[in-house]
Amino acid sequence: MTDVTRRKLENSLKEEETTRGSVKKEEKGITQPEKWDYEADLVVVGAGGAGLSAAVQGPDEGIEVIVLEMLPVVGGSTAICNGGIAMGGTLIQKEQGIEDSPELFYKDLVEFTAPGNRPELIKVHVDNALDLYEWLANLGVKFLPEGVLGTMGMSVPREHHTEPAVLPG
Ligand SMILES: Cc1cc2nc3c(=O)[nH]c(=O)nc-3n(C[C@H](O)[C@H](O)[C@H](O)COP(=O)(O)OP(=O)(O)OC[C@H]3O[C@@H](n4cnc5c(N)ncnc54)[C@H](O)[C@@H]3O)c2cc1C
Repeated sequence: MTDVTRRKLENSLKEEETTRGSVKKEEKGITQPEKWDYEADLVVVGAGGAGLSAAVQGPDEGIEVIVLEMLPVVGGSTAICNGGIAMGGTLIQKEQGIEDSPELFYKDLVEFTAPGNRPELIKVHVDNALDLYEWLANLGVKFLPEGVLGTMGMSVPREHHTEPAVLPG
């Protein structure tokens, strides 16, 4: 059995961050196991933002997790992205006097991504955005008041940046 705790994942991310760029499996002493028959309650494929977000919930839910990553570094696109999270109707927006809601976020996204979008998926995204905000805030993520930015296709500032951040412009 292999268990993945939040602390282990954080340490792994920090370690990979320092070696990102020219990592080779051999240099890191990573070898393919000859026999591999671990079991877990949850097997996550891909150690990017989505996968690791699912994985860190494991210990809280009392379940064992295995994360499978095809690259010798974790993080995926998430580790190199600009870090702006679009959410509509958050506390920090309210504190900034920005009137927003999941409904307005939905309207903007549907209009901006038409034609060819899938409104039912957009709905899932906007309906879960406030839970995402709460979840991150409860984990200790600090949203920056000056980091709530306007972005293409959005009628109000709703691209949230966190500390530490390098804000565009
Ligand atoms: C330059 C850049 C800037 C961006 N800026 C923003 C931004 O500001 N705001 C925003 O919301 N989005 C931004 N994005 C998009 C955002 O980064 C992605 O939508 C998001 O990171 C996707 O997360 P993910 O977990 O689905 O995928 P990823 O973070 O890419 O993780 C997927 C992981 O799965 C692994 N994997 C894939 N296939 C397998 C397999 N078969 N077996 C094992 N592992 C596998 C990959 O190696 C990777 O580690 C940006 C993207 C880029 C490239």
